[in-house]
Amino acid sequence: MGNRLSKPTNHLELYLNDVFKRECLFETHVADNEVEFIQTGIETLVQRIADQVLADHDVKEKIKMVAEELGIVIETPGPTNVLKVGSFYEGTKNKFPDEFDFTLVLGCLTGDMAQHASDVYMICFLADIYIPIEEVCKYSKYNGQTLVYTGSKCEAISEEQKLFFDWTVERNAPAINLKFIYQRGLEEMQPILVDLVPAVRCFDPHLIENIHTICFFEPFCEEVRKTGNILFVSNKFSFTETEVYFMKHVLSKNHKKVYRVLKYIINGHGDDEKLRIHLPTKAVVRDDGIDVYSTEVYSSYMIKIMIIHHHYLCSNDNKTEIGPCILQVLNDLCKYKNIKTFPFLTTSTKIFPHKFRLLPYLEHLAEYLQSMRAQNGVYDYEKERLNNSVSKQCADDFNFEFGDSDDYM
Ligand SMILES: [Zn+2]
Repeated sequence: MGNRLSKPTNHLELYLNDVFKRECLFETHVADNEVEFIQTGIETLVQRIADQVLADHDVKEKIKMVAEELGIVIETPGPTNVLKVGSFYEGTKNKFPDEFDFTLVLGCLTGDMAQHASDVYMICFLADIYIPIEEVCKYSKYNGQTLVYTGSKCEAISEEQKLFFDWTVERNAPAINLKFIYQRGLEEMQPILVDLVPAVRCFDPHLIENIHTICFFEPFCEEVRKTGNILFVSNKFSFTETEVYFMKHVLSKNHKKVYRVLKYIINGHGDDEKLRIHLPTKAVVRDDGIDVYSTEVYSSYMIKIMIIHHHYLCSNDNKTEIGPCILQVLNDLCKYKNIKTFPFLTTSTKIFPHKFRLLPYLEHLAEYLQSMRAQNGVYDYEKERLNNSVSKQCADDFNFEFGDSDDYM
């Protein structure tokens, strides 16, 4: 029986806790008021942009047209039209808060969701709506001025801080990426990226009975029933809001830590995104239906799905250790050979069964960590640490350049 004060002795536990402290927690120089400044600034500016999008004539016309074509009523979203989602709001963001995710609710739809699941027109509508939204974002100003946030001037901030929108707008479906700049003092400029995902909120009067037709993981159906929140995003349903609630309030503190460490050892600080840029955009499918030049990486979202499953399946009795959970999740993840078989919460929209190019690297990681678990001698982080994330190892093998790699220490 381990008691609460017992120190972990095996190398795996020591190592994973070191990774958490060094790579997942915010840097110590990031003051609380700085995080608060960035958060408030981003929320203020994104809301201003969202207000302009929702008031835009072309956007409104598009929504009206779709509603008429489908014979449905899409109501205006009401005051809460920007939903705070993603790792920052789930409390699982590693390191500096330089990425924020928001869902932009364009309208609300009431009806039988199972019926709308196959509504091709709805899907096309969401695909089409990107163009007018991007247009509004690109020219977005506030009262004719640049979109800038400076906070309250009376606060005792020694260096001048400001946050502004630099009008970089890129589509990265299902999101629209917006770039902001956080400036502290005269020289320090930090890009802050925002993912804005357009969506339609769905109210299903028979949600309790219908949820299993769109959510395929029974225990999570129960969570969605509790929040009652469903969105239609891009080409599928999304339970984003329930996921935020789950990650914040349902998932244990230990499992949150497990998730953050896994994100880091698999993807470093954004290595998955860097790797994705190098991977071929077109699928090349063999006769047996397997995509040989896979474009698949293990995204944070997929790791999150595994953690949600793990929450219900965890067999680790020692609640102070994260090693057994990390090994269990990694082994579970290794069971999936391609994207088609991956246990997403809702219908997977992938057409090709992309195989996981990173699987051999992931298996190697699981083996390495397993071997660490057996060690009890003198522990040295520098000697035993893995130099690269799973994504970075793959990139190195294929000679993909990541540019100035300051990320995976
Ligand atoms: Zn666990």
